[in-house]
Amino acid sequence: MSKKYTPTIGLEIHAELCTATKMFCRTKNDAEEQSPNTNVCPVCLGYPGSLPTLNKEAIKMVLSLGVSVGGKLADYTEFDRKNYFYPDIPKGYQISQYAHPLVRGGSLMGVDLTRIHLEEDTARSTHDTGDYSLLDFNRAGVPLMELVTEPVIHDAETASKFAKELQLLLTHLGASHANMEKGEMRVEANISVSDTDTFGTKVEVKNLNSFKAVEKAIMFEIKRQTELLEGGNKVAQETRGWDESKEVTYSQRVKEDSHDYRYFPDPDLPKMFLSEIPEFDQDTLRRGLPELPWRKRKRYLDWGMTEEASEVYTRDIDRSQAIDELEKLTSDKNLLKLASNYLITDPGTANVSAQNIFEVMQMVIEGSLSSTNAKFILKRLENKLGNPKQIATDENLLQTNNIDDLKKVVELIIAENPKIVSGYKDGNVALLQFLIGQGMKHTKGSGNPQILRDMFIDLLK
Ligand code: ADP
Ligand code: MG
Repeated sequence: MSKKYTPTIGLEIHAELCTATKMFCRTKNDAEEQSPNTNVCPVCLGYPGSLPTLNKEAIKMVLSLGVSVGGKLADYTEFDRKNYFYPDIPKGYQISQYAHPLVRGGSLMGVDLTRIHLEEDTARSTHDTGDYSLLDFNRAGVPLMELVTEPVIHDAETASKFAKELQLLLTHLGASHANMEKGEMRVEANISVSDTDTFGTKVEVKNLNSFKAVEKAIMFEIKRQTELLEGGNKVAQETRGWDESKEVTYSQRVKEDSHDYRYFPDPDLPKMFLSEIPEFDQDTLRRGLPELPWRKRKRYLDWGMTEEASEVYTRDIDRSQAIDELEKLTSDKNLLKLASNYLITDPGTANVSAQNIFEVMQMVIEGSLSSTNAKFILKRLENKLGNPKQIATDENLLQTNNIDDLKKVVELIIAENPKIVSGYKDGNVALLQFLIGQGMKHTKGSGNPQILRDMFIDLLK
């Protein structure tokens, strides 16, 4: 008889903050720096005797994140030394937070959060070079926030959606670029399964560098652990890695307990009472928040957009700015909906000014511009060339609606194509399309196809 195993998942997510300088020194924080060991100083190289200082901007970013998820900001906070040896952290400890994180609690997507704290990133090591390893300290000391969730997630899809929503929030706050492929956001998933009321032994999976990997690794672990238990075996508490090509997790090491790190408050850094520091005041931070993704999503839905469209705008700041700017110019729902179609199908349209989008849409609505020609003009405008009316005239893109002119063209085509005309009259309706095509050709694409169609039907009755 097979028992029912419930999976439980808790996430630990790290994100590099995009501050101007590093966490504990004034060295440039530049994720794009290609030349190794360029942005370094005695502090981030971990030289003995160097003194760290706090980066206010980084603290502010984490507190803003805390406020936006409804977390409780610490009153008292401090930084701790997490002691361990590895070449990427030569001072022998990482500065992190232990007992007094900046934020506790809060929730995102209905998932309860445990804490959000701030620490420093380590140097980047490269091991696959030969019989030696390389270290690049450009990344050492970059502010790294860690967000920990409660063990309240029960399926892989929710876990990956949660990570995606956090990424969206971080980019909205301007706190991190949170690109998983670049390692700017890293997800670790803790997974256990159990058939009782108590939690099973958890396994921590690292090296998940895409949302798909998060989902697949969790599904793999749920299956692996369930099969172990069903076979009468135990799940070992360990840290496992994710093998992207084989799509399996593999054992890395038995997990340390936190007491192995001998955490203690860093004596070089100030302890803080946040409420005494004006720019860390909760209300000030709240007033400084941008429109948060879930509010934006709801605003577009209320606006009458489909879920897909509202998701596109919520995820793409450029396009949402474009449609918002246009909405400031006009309240014409038809025009906005039409413009939205162009924005959704071509992201580049976001580079066109609201005024120009407005004029192009007006021409389409009047019937003087075909959809294809509107796209052509928008492409030109995207590259900041000219203005809508000018391009339309210069390129001869305006549709002719002048009935007398069009009628002459239609009569000419009828006279020139007796066989087609009689075929059409005999019931081959498909030939109408050919005649309209001739009309478009004669007018060099400027004839309004709808009017041409009506004229042919009328004259050939
Ligand atoms: P550790 O001391 O091993 O780091 P924590 O209590 O700090 O463990 O939790 C780390 C992460 O593991 C959190 O995201 C938490 O939600 C998750 N977690 C804790 N227990 C379990 C469990 N039994 N199953 C799944 N996840 C768990
Ligand atoms: Mg932990």
